Amino acid sequence: MAQVSLRKIVKMYEGDVQAVKGIDLEIEDHEFVVLVGPSGCGKSTTLRMIAGLEEISSGDIAIGGTVVNDIPPRDRDIAMVFQNYALYPHMSVFDNMAFGLTLRKFPKAEIKRRVDEAARILDITPLLDRKPKALSGGQRQRVAMGRAIVRDPKVFLFDEPLSNLDAKLRVQMRTEIKKVHQTVRTTTVYVTHDQVEAMTLADRVVVMNQGLIEQVGPPQELYHHP
Ligand code: ADP
Ligand code: ADP
Repeated sequence: MAQVSLRKIVKMYEGDVQAVKGIDLEIEDHEFVVLVGPSGCGKSTTLRMIAGLEEISSGDIAIGGTVVNDIPPRDRDIAMVFQNYALYPHMSVFDNMAFGLTLRKFPKAEIKRRVDEAARILDITPLLDRKPKALSGGQRQRVAMGRAIVRDPKVFLFDEPLSNLDAKLRVQMRTEIKKVHQTVRTTTVYVTHDQVEAMTLADRVVVMNQGLIEQVGPPQELYHHP
């Protein structure tokens, strides 16, 4: 069974902008799918519709076999990682990672267990007491990923998570994200405009252009033209 299904998804913004023009996509359990394409092609809109942050104009989105069109973001079995990290500056790394679980009233011991486990996977255990401002860009990105991992959702959604990092760190974090995926095996939908990033990370690349899917396939079968 597909973990994420997009069926004839259309998104119209005000002013008659058709950002997404009817796309179909089935994403399998454990798969790492990257949406790639030029700026404005509809990648972020598509991801935000899966997250529930943007209403669908028509079509259906299912997560884990359940149609989620009318389910608010917080009740979808997803966790999203943004490029601006969205960390709370006044909270420690531990509390930042724990936030989504605290909000959902998880027991303290379970929260600690999950945060410690995620910190171990991400190699940030020594940073748990720090505030975000005392972290490097790469460390902040790890914390943002940690916050997603502790939730143990069906699906991870990444929106250009590395675009604020310098080139060297970007390559390093790419490897890190791949490693995390191999460890937790969570179904992932990842948006980037960077073709190399797409090729390195994806089990399957979805190339979008002007609101449509242009090509879908494993990285080695794509990009025969520049
Ligand atoms: P990408 O992520 O591929 O850069 P987006 O999904 O952000 O593309 O945008 C797709 C199209 O929708 C673009 O033409 C963009 O200008 C338009 N768009 C995005 N967000 C809005 C919005 N809130 N209101 C109106 N148009 C929007
Ligand atoms: P979840 O795990 O449910 O996604 P988050 O920790 O991402 O929980 O956020 C919970 C709520 O707090 C969401 O409504 C989110 O938009 C909001 N939020 C998250 N980070 C910030 C931030 N840095 N500043 C303001 N609001 C935030």
